[in-house]
Amino acid sequence: VSAVEAVQAHLDRIGEVDPAINAFLHINTDEALRVASEVDKERSLEDAMHPLAGVPIAVKDLIVTKGQPTTAGSKILEGWHSPYDATVVRRLRDAKMPILGKTNLDEFAMGSSTEHSAYGPTRNPWDLDRIPGGSGGGSAAAVAAFEAPLALGTDTGGSIRQPGAVTGTVGVKPTYGGVSRYGAIAMASSLDQIGPVTRTVLDAALLHEVIGGHDPHDSTSLTDPVGALVDAARNGDVRGMRIGVIKELQGDGYQDGVQARFNEALDLLRQAGADVVEVSCPNFRYALGAYYLIMPSEASSNLAKYDGVRFGMRVVPDGAPTIERVMGATRAAGFGDEVKRRIILGTYALSAGYYDAYYGSAQKVRTLIQRDFDAAFGQADILISPTAPTTAFKLGEKLDDPLAMYLNDVATIPANMAGVPGISIPGGLADGLPVGIQFLAPARQDARLYRAGAALE
Ligand code: GLN
Repeated sequence: VSAVEAVQAHLDRIGEVDPAINAFLHINTDEALRVASEVDKERSLEDAMHPLAGVPIAVKDLIVTKGQPTTAGSKILEGWHSPYDATVVRRLRDAKMPILGKTNLDEFAMGSSTEHSAYGPTRNPWDLDRIPGGSGGGSAAAVAAFEAPLALGTDTGGSIRQPGAVTGTVGVKPTYGGVSRYGAIAMASSLDQIGPVTRTVLDAALLHEVIGGHDPHDSTSLTDPVGALVDAARNGDVRGMRIGVIKELQGDGYQDGVQARFNEALDLLRQAGADVVEVSCPNFRYALGAYYLIMPSEASSNLAKYDGVRFGMRVVPDGAPTIERVMGATRAAGFGDEVKRRIILGTYALSAGYYDAYYGSAQKVRTLIQRDFDAAFGQADILISPTAPTTAFKLGEKLDDPLAMYLNDVATIPANMAGVPGISIPGGLADGLPVGIQFLAPARQDARLYRAGAALE
């Protein structure tokens, strides 16, 4: 097929199924077709082109794109256009990948179900009454529903991997600093990473190689080359690989069907020649609590810039239009409840008198989690757990219970706290719904994720 045919087929599919799924907030028809036709023309010249040239992709609407709107799933950015492209978007354009559009998410990436989007929830293509995970439910649902072969997500506490798990797609959170965050709207800067959402491990490796590598625009960007990820994904040899089962991330609290698929995955890896061992990470039990102090603290600072002056929406209340009153009215109208909840939590945790007790303690827990990882990676080359404790839950089920919603991230959050890379791979079905298997590797060893992931696929 030509690139134009590939793009048109996906646009048709979006037209057919997206009214029910709501994965897309914006569709970029003209530009996607134009890029595809350029690829078709150049291909006839038999120039060496990138293997993903002409392959369409969807981009989470937390990542800025010049010439298309970027909303972060929030009313406060409705109608706003970025004057520049995120580095990852620039790299997609350089590889001549047509961008199909922008995908739905929980407002400012805060959530595990995409129900906190200001533009309505996304539905899981496996069962339209169920959530597609979050915050990147739009990207995962688009890939699962064949609306896009590839997508980009962002992962601060699991927002690529958990949606991957519950939609039966592959999701990768790269090593912190491995993919530039320039142009990813910041949620919690010390935890955020952009990564691939795909249907196969090899596709994820191809995309990761396109977007990864040093970027001078991101001060936390690593200088290492991105690594031979595609080779690792093609290899899939786990003979002699020591795979550590994280004792604390299974059993109690994990749905029976999830645990059963996980145990089968371990059997498969043993049969493939891996050496499966048990490791203990005792401090992981504090990860969720510490995350919900660090993440809101950073977010409360990052979201201060939505002041009714610099970006998007401005609400001018009746009476004297002082800066404080405009800011207050804009933020009251522009932010949803979950965002407000986290800003309040974060400003509280950072306030004088509470800082040491909350933020300071959480940072200490973060160090303990890093030490648990260091110890575990002394015994194993790679770690394994279920990606999420349950399969996709019903829309509305956890909407009134933030703590129950937060618990869905118990297994994904430790990786963000330590900056290590993780991948979620489809691991079969439980009661007809997808289950995800997660691998975690030491920082800068993303290639191991692809090697182990390919063995399970
Ligand atoms: N679900 C988690 C949260 O609500 C993770 C979000 C994310 O990774 N962006 O914070």
